Amino acid sequence: MQPRDLAAHEEYVAGRGIEEVARELGRDPGEFVKLASNENPLGPSPAGVAAIRDIADEIHHYPKAVHADLVAALANRWDVADEQIWLANGGDGALDYLGRAMLDPGDAVLVPDPGFAYYGMSARFHHGTVNTYPVTEADGFALSPANVFETYDGERIVYLTSPHNPTGSRFSLEDVTTIAEGTDEETLVVVDEAYGEFTEAPSAVELLDDRDDVAVLRTFSKAYGLAGLRLGYAIVPGAWADAYAKVNTPFAASAVACTAGLAALGDDEHVEKTTDLVRWSREYMRERLEASTYESHGNFVLAEVGDASDVTETLKQRGIIVRDCSSFGLPEHVRITCGTKRETKRVVSALNEVLAE
Ligand SMILES: *Cc1c(COP(=O)(O)O)cnc(C)c1O
Repeated sequence: MQPRDLAAHEEYVAGRGIEEVARELGRDPGEFVKLASNENPLGPSPAGVAAIRDIADEIHHYPKAVHADLVAALANRWDVADEQIWLANGGDGALDYLGRAMLDPGDAVLVPDPGFAYYGMSARFHHGTVNTYPVTEADGFALSPANVFETYDGERIVYLTSPHNPTGSRFSLEDVTTIAEGTDEETLVVVDEAYGEFTEAPSAVELLDDRDDVAVLRTFSKAYGLAGLRLGYAIVPGAWADAYAKVNTPFAASAVACTAGLAALGDDEHVEKTTDLVRWSREYMRERLEASTYESHGNFVLAEVGDASDVTETLKQRGIIVRDCSSFGLPEHVRITCGTKRETKRVVSALNEVLAE
């Protein structure tokens, strides 16, 4: 027998890990820095780590109470009702729940190109089809409603990534409103704010007070430093928030994840240190890199380097792992995650040397 027809499905290409690269080159992992996956250069929230240790002896219980506690804390933070928080196994899991709740077989979604691969993957899992709207280099990868309306054709879900991965640009709230107004009543606009902590711009959550066609995605993977735990959530309008009960996989986030997430949520100091460092690092890269870069509101900078695959390979030999953006359809760009001050200086001087050769 065979699985269903998966010909249109694509595999996710993750940033490469230190262990993997060190083994391939037969070198010591300690020589490498990884700036390829937009992880937190300061590590996890210390409060989150302590909470994980504390809960270890309790994990024979299903995560009912801790799940409810985290939902309540998030609802309080965003000033929404508890049922509007759709907790999930990573932001990716929350995208799946939105797909489960919205898509009938054959429904289409509209995703940015270049953009985050999982939107399309998740839609296909849910028997949907995928159309794209252009984000173009000629405009400096600027985002506006015009990008979306260039190809919008009544899709069921439109994905906006703000700040955008891999370019770092963003939509204003007026833009989001214009898009929600200009699309059909039955089109959901999902604003993916995975990098929301790194921008000064307000969250689109405030639009949910007046609209039932906008949802927001958030994650603990980036600013909170908990990527390995897999914890994220959608914030959805009250009008259909009760659908969560019908689409979520029971115990959507683990007890370890919920407990650590709750502690990390209260750890403002770690988030502040992280966002301060990211602001420093992305400015340093933009000022010092001898390559075209783009204003970034995320914890990474996109740089035009010529042959991205070649440059990524050469940097790897020098112990630095960055993200070759060929898989995003940008074979001349690399995406560099904001590192510590030392890591940032190291990648800038190494990349400048490689570009000068
Ligand atoms: C990292 C990221 C996410 C969420 O990642 P999770 O680790 O699954 O929470 C969502 N969207 C974009 C654009 C991202 O870069």
